[in-house]
Amino acid sequence: MTKTPKLLKKHPNAFQIEWKDAHVSWYPYPYLRQMCPCAECAIIRHKGRDVHSLFAPQGDGDMTLIEVSDAIAPLDIQLVGRYALQFNWDDGHGSGIYPFEVLREICPCPECAPLSAVETEEDMQTTQAPTEISPSELKQLLDENPLVLLDVREPSEYDIAHIAGAILIPLNDLPQKMDSLQPEQEIVVYCHHGQRSMYAVSYLQQNGFQNVKNLQGGIDRWAVEIDSTLNRYG
Ligand SMILES: [Zn+2]
Ligand SMILES: [Zn+2]
Repeated sequence: MTKTPKLLKKHPNAFQIEWKDAHVSWYPYPYLRQMCPCAECAIIRHKGRDVHSLFAPQGDGDMTLIEVSDAIAPLDIQLVGRYALQFNWDDGHGSGIYPFEVLREICPCPECAPLSAVETEEDMQTTQAPTEISPSELKQLLDENPLVLLDVREPSEYDIAHIAGAILIPLNDLPQKMDSLQPEQEIVVYCHHGQRSMYAVSYLQQNGFQNVKNLQGGIDRWAVEIDSTLNRYG
């Protein structure tokens, strides 16, 4: 019964739950408010999770879209049956019923947080800028060892020209097809001019890919500097 609370405690800035398995969760109120599981809030969060916000490099990320004051606090907290808590927030929102099961899942402690994939603001700021690689550096790498070349353009662009050996996963398909890539592989991503691939690199890095780089200037610069036999397009 790891999802059964043993102790519930309201603090000035955070809510504390001690679970039957002795794990202790601290939920800062702004975080808890943002994670409100009511339908209305879920829709707001979900709307933000279309492909563009998924690829938003930083800041307006894919989770924390509900505007919340740092000073938010619950006016009161009710136990709902034995399975949930209802928070009546001082911003007037009170329809969120938080099942204990959900609360345990969204525990923001360092031990649990990787599971809930919620980044704190601090994490966001330390997220590295996408690593870049120049065409000549890539040429050298390709001559030395095998790596995965990932083309994130559209199939029609791939047909015009691509770098030999590149696999095609259009940017919009990446969330669904990411499973076909190995996080530990060395990956270089390119597109036409380097913009779409930069989003892809950020996205892969956020999903645990450690060794992923963006080809500067995309295939267009590659065609100019390395392989003049490739067709260029506008
Ligand atoms: Zn809500
Ligand atoms: Zn935890």
